[in-house]
Amino acid sequence: MATTLDKVDVVTVGVGWTGGIVAAECAKSGLKVRGLERGEARGTEDYSMVHDEFRYAIRYELFQNLSRETITFRNNRQMNALPMRMMGSFLLGEGLGGAGTHWNGQNWRFLPYDFEIKSQTEKKYGKDKIGKDFLLQDWGITYDELEPYFTKYEYTAGISGEDTNPFWGKRSKPFPTPPMKKTPILEKFEKATTNLGYHPFMMPSANLSEPYENPDGSTIAACQYCGFCERFGCEYGAKSSAEITVVPTALETGNFDIRYHSNVVEVLKKGNKVTGVRFYDTVTGEEFIQPADVVVLTSYVLNNAKLLMVSNIGEQYDPDTGRGTLGRNYCYQILPGATGFFDDEQFNTYMGAGALGMTIDDFNGDSFDHSKLDFIHGASLSLTQPGLRPIAFNPVPPDTPAWGEEFKKASVHYYTRALSIGGQGASMPYKENYMSLDSTYKDAYGVPLLRLTYNFTDQDRALHKYLSERSAEIMKEMGANTIAPANPLTDYDIVPYQTTHNTGGTVMGNDPGISVVNTWLQHWDAENLFVVGAGNFAHNSGYNPTGTVGALAYRCAEGIIKYSKTGGSLV
Ligand SMILES: Cc1cc2nc3c(=O)[nH]c(=O)nc-3n(C[C@H](O)[C@H](O)[C@H](O)COP(=O)(O)OP(=O)(O)OC[C@H]3O[C@@H](n4cnc5c(N)ncnc54)[C@H](O)[C@@H]3O)c2cc1C
Ligand code: SF4
Repeated sequence: MATTLDKVDVVTVGVGWTGGIVAAECAKSGLKVRGLERGEARGTEDYSMVHDEFRYAIRYELFQNLSRETITFRNNRQMNALPMRMMGSFLLGEGLGGAGTHWNGQNWRFLPYDFEIKSQTEKKYGKDKIGKDFLLQDWGITYDELEPYFTKYEYTAGISGEDTNPFWGKRSKPFPTPPMKKTPILEKFEKATTNLGYHPFMMPSANLSEPYENPDGSTIAACQYCGFCERFGCEYGAKSSAEITVVPTALETGNFDIRYHSNVVEVLKKGNKVTGVRFYDTVTGEEFIQPADVVVLTSYVLNNAKLLMVSNIGEQYDPDTGRGTLGRNYCYQILPGATGFFDDEQFNTYMGAGALGMTIDDFNGDSFDHSKLDFIHGASLSLTQPGLRPIAFNPVPPDTPAWGEEFKKASVHYYTRALSIGGQGASMPYKENYMSLDSTYKDAYGVPLLRLTYNFTDQDRALHKYLSERSAEIMKEMGANTIAPANPLTDYDIVPYQTTHNTGGTVMGNDPGISVVNTWLQHWDAENLFVVGAGNFAHNSGYNPTGTVGALAYRCAEGIIKYSKTGGSLV
C-alpha cells in the first residue's frame, strides 16, 4: 500500500540540468517544488581524487545502474530486441546533476535553420530532397523566439566563448566569459582551416576560462585544464553543472527540497489532468505517491518517453500507419572525422579540458550548397583537446596489428603523435527509427523496459562520407604523415561508445498531430504535465544538445509559472 505525501505545487522527476533549471525558476517565483531523484546527493567535494580512469571512465562509477533498469535495442522491427547489459553507445546519468555532472561541457545553440528545417529545405531544394520516409518537421518556434532563453541559460552556466562564427544565429549578448586558452594543437587546426578558406573559432565551453559569478549569485571556478572532464565530476567546481549553479539557487529560496533514492515509475492521470507521480524508495523498497499541481518530466530523453508510455499518456507512434506521436522522431548522431598521425611532432595530448577546442561550421546546417549532394544538413567539425586517457586512447595507424608487441609499441609511440578531427553530425528522423515499450523485459519495479528500434540511414551514410572526406583534407593541410578517415558507416552498433546525444520521442511543435508537447513543453493531453529535454527535438543537429536543452528548460519554467497563475493551455 503506497504512502501518500503532502501535495506540492510542482514535482520534477530527476534533478539534472533540466530538473535543476525548472526547480530554480519555479522556486524563485514562490512555488513549492520537490525534486524526486532516483540517485544520490553529490557535489564538488565528492569529486576530489576522481582522476581514476578505470573506476570512472571504464567502470562508470557515476552512471545509471543497469541491473535495475535498462533499455532493449534492435536495429529493425524484424529483430528481437535485447537488453543493454553494459553501458555502451551512450552513457546514462544518475544522481544529483544527472549526466551534466560528467559531461564535457561543449555548449551550443542550434542553428536558426534547425528550427525551420522542413520549410527551409522544401523552399530551397524541393519537397523530395530526402524522401517521404523522413519525418522532417519544423519545431513550432524560431531561433529568434528562443534566443532570450539561450542567453539566460548561458549566463547561468557562465559559458566561455567568442562570437566570431559567421554561420550561427544572432546573439543578443556576448558570451559571459572569454574563450578558453588556445593551445599549439588548436593553433595548428586554426591555421590549416584558415588556409583552406574556412572560419575557425573557439568552441563555446562550460569549462570556464575564468572565475565567474552568475546572475543568481552562484560561483563557478576557473578550469585547470586537468583533462578529466568527460565521465568525471570536476573537483575544482570549474565545469558548470546543475549542482553548482541552479540547484543551490533553488535550495536557497527555501521553496525546494530534493528527495533522493526516489525512482518514479508512473505519472498519475485523472481526466485531462495529472495528479502526481508514484515512486519507490530504492533503499527501503517503500512505495509512495507524490501529489502535485504540476508534474514535470526532467528524467532525460529515454525515461521521459518511457514514463509517458507506461502511464498511458498520449498515443504511441505506429510505424505501420504513421499514427501516434509518442516515441516518434527518435534520432541519434552521426560522427564523421579523421585521425592524423604525425611522425615528427609531439603534442601534449594528455592534458586539456572537455570543451577545449576549435570548430568550423562551414559544413554544418545549410551553410553549404546541398543541391548536388544526396543528404541535407551536416556537422560541426572540431579539433578538441579533452585530455586523452591512457587506457582508452590507443591510436595506431591503419596497417598496425590490433594486438601484440607491434600494437603496444605503436600505441605508445603515437599517444602524443596523433590528433583527431571529430564531427557532430546531424541525424534526421526516419519512420523506422522510434521508441516503444518492450513486450518481454521489465525493470526491477516490474515496469516494461523502453525499446529502441534504430539504424543508420542512407542520408546518414552520405553525410558521414562527405564530412569524413572534408576532415581528411584538413588533416592533410595540418601536415599529418598518415591520415585515417573514419570507417564508412554500416549498421548502428549499441556496444562502442559514440555519443550521449539521443533525441526525439517527445517532440515539441504547434501541431498536436505530429508533436507530444506544445512549444511551452506542455503536454497536449494533460495541461498540467510538462516534458522537457532533448526528447523535444524534432531532429538532431550538428552540435551537442545541452545548450538547446537548457534554453528549452528556461522556456518550460516560464510556461509552468504562467500556467500556475492562469491554468489551461498556454497556446
Ligand atoms: C559522457 C558524456 C558527455 C557529454 N558531453 C556533452 C557535451 O560536451 N555537450 C553537451 O551539450 N552535452 C553533453 N552530454 C549530454 C548532456 O549530459 C545531457 O544533454 C544533459 O545532461 C541532459 O540533461 P537532462 O536534465 O535532460 O538529463 P540528465 O542529466 O540525464 O538528468 C536526468 C536525471 O533524472 C534522473 N532520473 C531518471 N529517471 C528517473 C526516475 N524514473 N525517477 C527519478 N529520477 C530519475 C536521473 O538519475 C538523472 O539525475 C554528455 C553526456 C555524457 C554522458
Ligand atoms: S578540465 Fe577543467 S573543467 Fe574539466 S574537470 Fe579539469 S578543471 Fe574541471
